[in-house]
Amino acid sequence: MPRKALLVILDGAGDRANRELDYKTPLQYARTPNLDSLARKSMVGLMDPIAPGIRAGSDTSHLNILGYDPYKVYTGRGPFEAAGLDMELEPGDIAFRCNFATVDDNLVVKDRRAGRIKEGTHELAQALNGLKIEDVEFFVKEGVEHRAALVMRGPGLIPFVSDVDPHGTGLKIHDAMPLKEEAEKTARLLNLFVRKSYEILKEHPVNKEREKEGLLPANILLPRGAGMAPHMEKFSAKYRMKGACVVGTPLIRGICKMAGIEPIDFPGATGSYDTDMKGKFRHAVEALKTHDFVLVNIKAPDIAGHDMLPKKKVEVMERIDEAVGYLLKILPEDVALIITADHSTPCTVGDHSGDPVPILVYASDSRREGTEFNEIACARGSLRIKGSDIMSIVLNITNRAEKFGA
Ligand SMILES: [Zn+2]
Repeated sequence: MPRKALLVILDGAGDRANRELDYKTPLQYARTPNLDSLARKSMVGLMDPIAPGIRAGSDTSHLNILGYDPYKVYTGRGPFEAAGLDMELEPGDIAFRCNFATVDDNLVVKDRRAGRIKEGTHELAQALNGLKIEDVEFFVKEGVEHRAALVMRGPGLIPFVSDVDPHGTGLKIHDAMPLKEEAEKTARLLNLFVRKSYEILKEHPVNKEREKEGLLPANILLPRGAGMAPHMEKFSAKYRMKGACVVGTPLIRGICKMAGIEPIDFPGATGSYDTDMKGKFRHAVEALKTHDFVLVNIKAPDIAGHDMLPKKKVEVMERIDEAVGYLLKILPEDVALIITADHSTPCTVGDHSGDPVPILVYASDSRREGTEFNEIACARGSLRIKGSDIMSIVLNITNRAEKFGA
């Protein structure tokens, strides 16, 4: 009988030896009885999210894990951010992530986040949405606070343009520059659009009102992270499994959406420290009633790694372990459970590194190899794989793989 599968990605969970933790990794140092007992019933090992030593982004790693070659489908995070905000993308669209920002009359950035604007961005986005310059249409949608996404649709566009966002205050906005000759049109029209966004937004009633209240106006849209929307074969066609996901970050949500994996949203599913981990597992188990494959992403370990806080990362791991204890109580018996990370974010580095991450593959009849769930103990297991191997392993452990040969 084919099984269903739950894939849990502990974002950035892999780490290195931290002096504050007696030269252990946070996972090694943390008290994780539930993960450890699960490891004892699982195949375990190490995974290179892309390839040994390659520093994976969360986006390229998730693509690779889901079986989409990031070297083929990924040109930048823009399209996945846009899809994560439920914008409809067509293959060939150029998309950017953007900030609503505040600039002065000389287009010098006063605040990259427009005073962390909370309200009115829907109206501001609407004022720009659907603009047409020459034969290219521009679509804008607001995200959380100052965040937004921009999509360019039209002939002759390619994503190889530099950022308009100067990534700092007191700096004049940059002109997008073509990074390849063929990108001249994309860069030129993008620059026209950004200036147009200033002309429109500075006069917008939302900003007039903000200025009256002494708040910074969100008077320009600053794009960055250009990428082209790829054609991606639907997950259900690729694996004959209906997929769902429970994730807190728009970027990962967007990757899933573009793969045809249905996002399950609920208010506690944030991409922050205080995300509702048990709620994520509860919704995942619920989704397994109607789907064959569910992906859960928990962002908190990655944040602790970026913040370079090993003790905090230990605390996050112990909270995850508690939530895993809850998951094991509610997970139907014959579901396969795979737990791993999308990359390491060592607290000693404060950013993603190319160190491999631990993985466990559990099913009721999986080989029982593990001792504890961490980078060191899992290294003694049988698995030494790449992210692109995971879906084959999922198909095998769920008894869905097609035989190769007679
Ligand atoms: Zn990540």
